[in-house]
Amino acid sequence: MSARLKAYEGRPAAVGGVGKDPVNEPMIRHWCEALGDTDPAYAGPDAVAPPTMLQAWTMGGLSGHTGRSSRSGRSEAYDELLGLLDDSGYTSVVATDCEQEYLRPLRPGDEITFDSVIESVSERKTTKLGTGYFVTTRTDVRAGGEPAGTHRFRILKYTPKYTPARRNPKAPRARRPSPVINRDNAGFWEGVARGVLLIQRCGDCGTLRFPWLPGCAACGCPEWDTVEASGEGSVYSYVVMHHPRFEAFDPPYAVGLIELAEGVRIVSNVVGVPYDKVRIGLPVRLEFARFDERDGEDKAGGEGAELVLPVFRVQEGGGG
Ligand code: ZN
Repeated sequence: MSARLKAYEGRPAAVGGVGKDPVNEPMIRHWCEALGDTDPAYAGPDAVAPPTMLQAWTMGGLSGHTGRSSRSGRSEAYDELLGLLDDSGYTSVVATDCEQEYLRPLRPGDEITFDSVIESVSERKTTKLGTGYFVTTRTDVRAGGEPAGTHRFRILKYTPKYTPARRNPKAPRARRPSPVINRDNAGFWEGVARGVLLIQRCGDCGTLRFPWLPGCAACGCPEWDTVEASGEGSVYSYVVMHHPRFEAFDPPYAVGLIELAEGVRIVSNVVGVPYDKVRIGLPVRLEFARFDERDGEDKAGGEGAELVLPVFRVQEGGGG
C-alpha cells in the first residue's frame, strides 16, 4: 500500500490552472472586511492584495474550474489517489494545515496561473482521529507568468476510530463532552463551579475579553483580573445544528452566540424555547444547567459525573 501511494508523489494534482478573476479590488475589500483587516496597504491606488489571499485567487468558486482537469480542478492522478485511499477504508478526510510562501506582492490586475503537484504521501500514521495517510499538495502560483508564491495544503485521509453507532433506545445515553480545562481558562471554570460567569478584564487598558486568553488583544498586556457578568444578555446570532449527529445531543438544536450586557459574546445553549423559536435579539438571562446526572448505580459517579455549564434562558416577552 505504502509503495502504491508513494508512486503518486510528484504527479500533478492540478495542471494549467487559471485564476477565474485577475487580482481585483472588490475581492480584496471583501476579504479585508470579513477579516476586519484595516491595513492601509490593502486600499487606495497603490494597493496590494493581502498575502494570505494567495489561495483565494486560485479557487474555482461554486461553478468550478473548466479545462483539462475535472470540474473540481483536480487532476486524474489526485482523484485516483483519493479513490485508492477510499477503497482501502481511509474514507474520512480532514484538512490539517496549510503553509504559504510569498515571493512577490500581488496587485490588482495581476493575471493568476497555477499548477499543483502531489508533493508527498506520508507513511501510515495513527492519530487521535484514526489511522491514515497525510497527503500534501503544493500549488505554485504565478502572476503574469512569474512565480508569486506557493501554497502547501495537507490533508489526512483516515479510517475513523469512532463510528457513530445507531442509537439503541435501551443503551445509556452518551455523555456530553466535558470542557477542556487548561491554564488559560481554569479561572473561568472555577467561576462556573461557584455559579458565576467571569469575564477577563485587561490590567492595563481595561478591555473586557471572552473567551479567556493569556493576553489582551487590544494592547497586548498579560495582566488581568475578572469581572462577574450580570447574566443579562441577548441572542446576537445563532445556528441550528442538524448534522453531524453526536450521541449526547438531540438534533435539531440551536447554538446561540450570546452578547452579554457587558459587551462580550459567548457561545452557549439557548433554553426555554424550541430551537425554531430562537431569534436574533431575544433577551436572555444566564443560568447554570447540570448535565449528565446519572441515575441508579451510576449516581456515585466519581470524577466528572456531573457537568455544569452556563446556558441562557429566554426571558418573558421573547420567543413569541
Ligand atoms: Zn489591554
